Amino acid sequence: MLSGSNWLRVMIYMIIVGGLLKAIDLPFSYYSGYVLEHRFQLSRQSLAAWMKDQLKALAIAAPLTIAAVEIIYLLLRVDSKFWWIYASIVFIAFAIVMANLAPVLLLPLFFKFKPVENPDLQNRVDRLARRTGKRICGIFEWSLGEKTRKANAAVVGWGNTRRIIVSDTLLKNFSGEEIEVVMAHELCHHVKNHIWYGMAAQSFLTFAAFYAAYRVLPPLARSFGFSGTEDVANFPLMALVMTILSLAALPAVNFFSRQLETAADLYALDVTGDALAFVSGMEKLAEINLVNKTPNKIVAFIFHSHPSVEDRVKLAADRVGQSV
Ligand SMILES: [Zn+2]
Repeated sequence: MLSGSNWLRVMIYMIIVGGLLKAIDLPFSYYSGYVLEHRFQLSRQSLAAWMKDQLKALAIAAPLTIAAVEIIYLLLRVDSKFWWIYASIVFIAFAIVMANLAPVLLLPLFFKFKPVENPDLQNRVDRLARRTGKRICGIFEWSLGEKTRKANAAVVGWGNTRRIIVSDTLLKNFSGEEIEVVMAHELCHHVKNHIWYGMAAQSFLTFAAFYAAYRVLPPLARSFGFSGTEDVANFPLMALVMTILSLAALPAVNFFSRQLETAADLYALDVTGDALAFVSGMEKLAEINLVNKTPNKIVAFIFHSHPSVEDRVKLAADRVGQSV
């Protein structure tokens, strides 16, 4: 026994196990996040800047992870029958609060944002918003260009923090018409509240993962000789059960995500009526981000959250075919 205090025991255990896992992960994230990104001339970050970002992310993730595990084991000690329901509720509530705070609290730690001042873009978005009849959220320029050549846009936040963010790299490289199509796509995520569909799916998975841990952990813990499920030494087992479940759910999660993306593409095509700009925008996005336009079908089915460029171009062609 390391300490009489359950809290301290969990914390020390998490610092040791978490530290070990991070040490194993570091060479892989250095290779994929720094070496590869530089080899293909995507990243513009110095090694020092990259390391600063990693340390910042660790300074946020480490206390949150320790707090999360402390809560799980507290609930396990308090109520061995219903802990998984309470844990699910705490995790889902936290995810919802963080989704609101991320645009104002988390993202600004890594990127600069400023309201879009381009009058042409403003006009285009106003026109789109009038056509959709929905209240428009704020549009912010996202300073991705100081870190990478890649281009991107997204809808983030909900309620008072809801906004569309569009990277400076996209604004610089895309034509007015192409930007309008991207904005229309993001506008669909906004007006159809796709964030809440994502939240609902994530909440379901959280419940499923904790329920699986609740069912599987007691016999597993016994067979490994732990004193009970509330023994923090079984944390690797719990993490393994959760990881296996989230990997098993990956194809379904990505399938669901691709449905929403296709809905946003169709919306963008209909509302702008500009299939040419849609196609050239998609092609440009793939070229700038070095994305494979025709990925392996099985890989795409399991791992891709967005349809392939090939499929998106085909969607645009089909749409034009229907309207002629
Ligand atoms: Zn999208």
